[in-house]
Amino acid sequence: MAHTSPLARRGVLFVLSSPSGAGKSTIARMLLRADPDIALSVSATTRPIRPGEVDGVDYHFVSLDRFREMASAGDFLEWAHVFDHRYGTPRAPVHQMLGEGRDVLFDIDWQGAQQLFQQAGGDVVRVFILPPSVEELGRRLRSRGTDEASVVAARMARAASEISHWDGYDYVLVNDDVERCFTQVRMILEAERLKRSRQTGLIGFARKLMA
Ligand code: 5GP
Repeated sequence: MAHTSPLARRGVLFVLSSPSGAGKSTIARMLLRADPDIALSVSATTRPIRPGEVDGVDYHFVSLDRFREMASAGDFLEWAHVFDHRYGTPRAPVHQMLGEGRDVLFDIDWQGAQQLFQQAGGDVVRVFILPPSVEELGRRLRSRGTDEASVVAARMARAASEISHWDGYDYVLVNDDVERCFTQVRMILEAERLKRSRQTGLIGFARKLMA
């Protein structure tokens, strides 16, 4: 059950997507720190670990063979090719978190958002974060390691292709100020938690009030 309300409710599957450089990871981190009722779904990936990343925390880093095994065993709620690698959401931890009455945060791309929605429909809330301008996106992408023009151009092209899926989301936010964007994300989550359709404890509660 949610700690913020005395009523039992269904958990929210809260999806945050954005092109890289829009500030999604920062906002996801802020949300996890600020809100004990939501926990991160840690994806499995075949991409190599980057400096500073921790296996089991940022991702479960697995071989292609292991990933294929997991996919054919039905271990993923969804999975997709993103760029040159595979990424998937392990099913069991999500069920466990929902069973504990927590909401689950997914940092996944539009393909993941679409598949999750097909499976869990009304329990899924999809939020897309946009950068404030092409110039700002370029600036943020250039500041990530190499400044080589072709690398930056490739990142911009990927960002444009991700952005083209904005209309597959329930909410679209422009991150021109990280604090404001974070506040908006929290407001969305709070309001979605309060939706009548999620408040499974309401019938009994209202009956008691009427008795
Ligand atoms: P990165 O390799 O930079 O950590 O992530 C690349 C992209 O893959 C990001 O857009 C991220 O949201 C997406 N991604 C991460 N995990 C998953 C997953 O489990 N499923 C899907 N569909 N996308 C994912």
